Amino acid sequence: LLEVQGLKKRFPDGTLAVDDVSFTMRPGESLGLVGESGSGKSTISRMVTRLIDASEGEIIFEGESIGAIPARDFHRAPQRSQVQIVFQDAGESLNPRFSAFDSIADPLRRLAGLRDSASLRRAVEDAADGVGLPRALLDRYPHQLSGGQRARVGIARAISVQPRLLVLDEPTAALDVSVQAVVLQLLEKLRREKGLAYLFVSHDLNVVRMLCDRLIVLRQGRIVEEGDSARVFRSPAAEYTAQLIAAIP
Ligand code: ATP
Ligand code: MG
Repeated sequence: LLEVQGLKKRFPDGTLAVDDVSFTMRPGESLGLVGESGSGKSTISRMVTRLIDASEGEIIFEGESIGAIPARDFHRAPQRSQVQIVFQDAGESLNPRFSAFDSIADPLRRLAGLRDSASLRRAVEDAADGVGLPRALLDRYPHQLSGGQRARVGIARAISVQPRLLVLDEPTAALDVSVQAVVLQLLEKLRREKGLAYLFVSHDLNVVRMLCDRLIVLRQGRIVEEGDSARVFRSPAAEYTAQLIAAIP
């Protein structure tokens, strides 16, 4: 599904945020990307979803080199609806002037080209059902929803266009534990039922352990460990990973 080769990002101020990162993802796979603050997780997420350009390296999605498409042109690329990202503040970055319905309908109009209002309504309701957001709440604005409900609208927005790959950049960081659990169960359901692959970014190893088949440990922009989650937790290959695991509360 996704092949990342030799990815590097150097910001204009000289910061080398990502240094020679390579990995692959299969359809329906859940891959965890963990590392301390500043290790380059968000920068990788943004390059893979083509919000920012890489300095070097290849990003191949379903056989096409999407890394070669400049980030500013990616909104017109056919792969645009296939690769979606949910940010840390999924719910908090909603447009305050959009009802939940309009928030979810927006990518369906722009990316899936849905125009007809009956099919639009059906697609929005499907996405809302998928994330367990009651249809009765679709007319509400962000300030009339709880944090967990807003997070669901944020995720519904991302999945409404039925992406093949969802990148979640610490989507549950701002949520309380019970809402987190709901979001995590939802992701598992989408994976089982729709074959959605996701790249789950987190600094919470417990969440990653629960959720991800495979994981990558990042340190200062470089991969220090990669492998099957169970194996990594059982016998980490890198000393750094062992330290992270030992520090789990
Ligand atoms: P966190 O867990 O805190 O979200 P992260 O792993 O997501 O951290 P990144 O946001 O990818 O880390 O940042 C990686 C490095 O790149 C950091 O040193 C950061 O200061 C730097 N960085 C990020 N964006 C820019 C930018 N626009 N210009 C310069 N440096 C940047
Ligand atoms: Mg980040």
